[in-house]
Amino acid sequence: MRIPMIAGNWKMNLTIGAGLELVKSIHYSHRHPGEVDVVVAPPFTAIHSIAEAVKDSYISVAAQNIHWETSGAFTGEISPVFAKDAGAEYVIIGHSERRQYFAETNETVNKKTKAAFAHGLTPIVCVGETLAEREAGRVEEVINTQVTQGLTGLSATNFEKLIIAYEPVWAIGTGKTATGQQAEDVHTFIRELLVKLAGPEIAQKIRILYGGSVNAKNAKELLSFPNIDGALVGGASLKAPDFVEIIKGATA
Ligand code: PEP
Repeated sequence: MRIPMIAGNWKMNLTIGAGLELVKSIHYSHRHPGEVDVVVAPPFTAIHSIAEAVKDSYISVAAQNIHWETSGAFTGEISPVFAKDAGAEYVIIGHSERRQYFAETNETVNKKTKAAFAHGLTPIVCVGETLAEREAGRVEEVINTQVTQGLTGLSATNFEKLIIAYEPVWAIGTGKTATGQQAEDVHTFIRELLVKLAGPEIAQKIRILYGGSVNAKNAKELLSFPNIDGALVGGASLKAPDFVEIIKGATA
């Protein structure tokens, strides 16, 4: 049984004060989460304050990125040790915006994923094809490369904790959502890849989230598919009523 996860990626939004208001209203309007893990990923500057504020609640905190090194001459970067020290339990790795604007590759995704595990953070590794790749019939080829190269060399213990987010690039922030069946097909394919990488038993334990314009209206249908184990939510995670509705969709 995989416990569903709803994770909100705040991206480069919300000051500390605005983030605190948001988690307070999520917590107040949804006191009984049931069997669902709820995570918010604020900007680095707000991680500590948000983590302190949610410490006795059911909400956990993620960083949106880390560097793979522990410390050193890497101006402007955040070490996994610092993210953990600030209160993060999870970290989003390889988001398509990082791949697109910050030259993230499957190789850096792999280094960051290993660094996250080494320092007690649970990685949420993002994969997904562009529209051009989908239209060229290359979805499986692209996902295969991202998953295989991004996760190479992980131990069985790492795989057990790993979280993957399938986020088709054409659906992120565009209002275009993959249909439940389109997402389920890719999630099933990812699970088959995980069987090859980690064995059938561990592959069944790995949560695969869907991300791409998930909102209060479409979440329940998407989450009803057997291999869609939760959602990574961008825009709709910035509005408490919408985010709470998505959490409810996962508990229903
Ligand atoms: C995301 O940032 O991971 C995302 C899925 O964004 P949105 O929900 O806004 O499409």
